[in-house]
Amino acid sequence: MSNDHTNGHTPPAPASSNFLRGIIETDLTAGAYAERKDSQGQPLPQVVTRFPPEPNGYLHIGHAKSICVNFGLARDYAGRCHLRFDDTNPEKEEQEYVDTIIDSVRWLGFDWTDNTGEHLYFASNYFDKLYEMAEYLITAGLAYVDSQSAEQMTANRGNFGEPGKDSPFRNRSAEESLDLFRRMKAGEFKDGEHIVRARIDMASPNMNLRDPAIYRIRHAHHHRTGDKWCIYPMYDYTHPISDALENISHSICTLEFQDHRPFYDWLLEHLSSAGFLQKPVPHQYEFSRLNVTYVITSKRKLRQLVDEGIVDGWDDPRMPTLVGIRRRGFTPESLQLFCDRTGVTKSDGWIDMSSLEGALREDLDPKAPRASAVLQPLKLIIDNFPEGETVACHAPVYPPAHPEHATALRHFPISKTLWIEQEDFMETPVKGYFRLFPPSADKPGSRVRLRHGYVVECTGFDKDADGKVTAVHCTYFPDSKSGTEGSANYKVKGNIHWISVAHAIEAEVRLYDRLFTDPHPDAGGKDFKAALNPDAKKVISAYLEPGLKDAQPEQRYQFERHGYFIADRVDSQPGKLVFNRTVTLKDSWLK
Ligand code: ATP
Ligand code: MG
Repeated sequence: MSNDHTNGHTPPAPASSNFLRGIIETDLTAGAYAERKDSQGQPLPQVVTRFPPEPNGYLHIGHAKSICVNFGLARDYAGRCHLRFDDTNPEKEEQEYVDTIIDSVRWLGFDWTDNTGEHLYFASNYFDKLYEMAEYLITAGLAYVDSQSAEQMTANRGNFGEPGKDSPFRNRSAEESLDLFRRMKAGEFKDGEHIVRARIDMASPNMNLRDPAIYRIRHAHHHRTGDKWCIYPMYDYTHPISDALENISHSICTLEFQDHRPFYDWLLEHLSSAGFLQKPVPHQYEFSRLNVTYVITSKRKLRQLVDEGIVDGWDDPRMPTLVGIRRRGFTPESLQLFCDRTGVTKSDGWIDMSSLEGALREDLDPKAPRASAVLQPLKLIIDNFPEGETVACHAPVYPPAHPEHATALRHFPISKTLWIEQEDFMETPVKGYFRLFPPSADKPGSRVRLRHGYVVECTGFDKDADGKVTAVHCTYFPDSKSGTEGSANYKVKGNIHWISVAHAIEAEVRLYDRLFTDPHPDAGGKDFKAALNPDAKKVISAYLEPGLKDAQPEQRYQFERHGYFIADRVDSQPGKLVFNRTVTLKDSWLK
């Protein structure tokens, strides 16, 4: 396919242009896929992509990239994207995984339904057609049944730089192969006794063209087709045909499939020429995988974390699975932003975890409702505040950038005894410390503003027998209340948050951080468990402002001065709140 714009049409470069967009725009200009019709004779979109997971595990951050690329291109070029389960491996696949994958793709914000219906497919639905095409390939002399043992087959496959050797069964007649294939299907043989291979070239420099296997015997129950089949098509055979049957135009995958492309093309060329598949056939394009620092995505290693109880399950908020990332509090928008920004290239590289966290901050900063939370509580007693009284205070729910900033208010009372953060008091202040400290020989006690409340002056503190500060004392200035005229007369450098003790809501807060301390925990065969971050989860009991009493699961907030938090979707309920810290306000991992 040519990539030049010789007809003079140079499409405008979209915001985040990349080589896939370039290819699609060239194809659109040339009308490469303009003539195709669906089975009802209706014209097909010129851009049809697919996201093709194998239902053998949970989706992770890397899959999010592939989902955003495929669904994103379809969206941007008036096409459509299919969700297809590549379910050709009966032993490893389960309905449970199908369900969670569907959930995760929807949660990410994508949909496979358009005005022509739902485009959710299963490769297993094509088993009859795949079988029929395999019979054709055998009949046409393009495939044969091989009866070598697995060991012989491996030995005869050769190596890089060393050609393979033809199987002694390679010249079997089409009739004999076809008979054996039918008997394989009928269940006459044990697993591994025979295999169907494409007849291409045992000396090809590309190992994938050395008579690749296309069908194997597996006496196994399939989660969708049950016990109907005891032979199953290979992934490399199924994938191109599924693409073609679904009229995919641009079949986008990761770089490790580059060497599989010649077989993809070989197969579709033969089957379309024989009339099984519509022309023009789909084309495969590869881009580099997304690798994120501090993250592992190997299914085997993730499973190990779950099985060994190192994390609390697949949806543990420390996991890079989409169910974990969701539970942690990341928004679909932040993931889309992150995936768009990381771009589409052909060179492998690492993306820093901080860019995912940055995308979340960017997404939530203008829109997350604000709230006060005291995570490390210390009592502040306003000695001159009348006992038993309260004064109403309020603050905007939303930040200044939000359209409802001026109107939506949160209400909370101030009273004599408040919770403040331990770190907002220092018995002996260090230089530049502007929060609470007591009077000393050479300095009066500090003055700070209790946000949205009054200015107070620190007068002293209490200590217990162990020398631990148990309460801080202050006096307040009744004419200093935020929002009143008098407040302007008080200029203070410190500004701290607080919650009235009598009105505070107690909540469990789970402070999550990165699961690993090493940016490349499993690089070069390293023991990834040696790099586990012991502080990746800390559970504390905290105080929240009273308005959060009815916070619903998955509700997100910015806890002022702390970070972004979400009510846990599994464990939180009104009356028994559990919040997860998604990220802190600032990147604490910056060197
Ligand atoms: P397996 O090891 O089981 O093959 P997989 O991660 O490749 O796991 P699939 O279900 O085959 O899982 O992947 C579905 C799609 O997601 C494929 O097209 C694959 O290329 C893509 N994908 C998987 N990991 C990444 C990644 N890190 N970056 C971009 N795309 C990815
Ligand atoms: Mg795969």
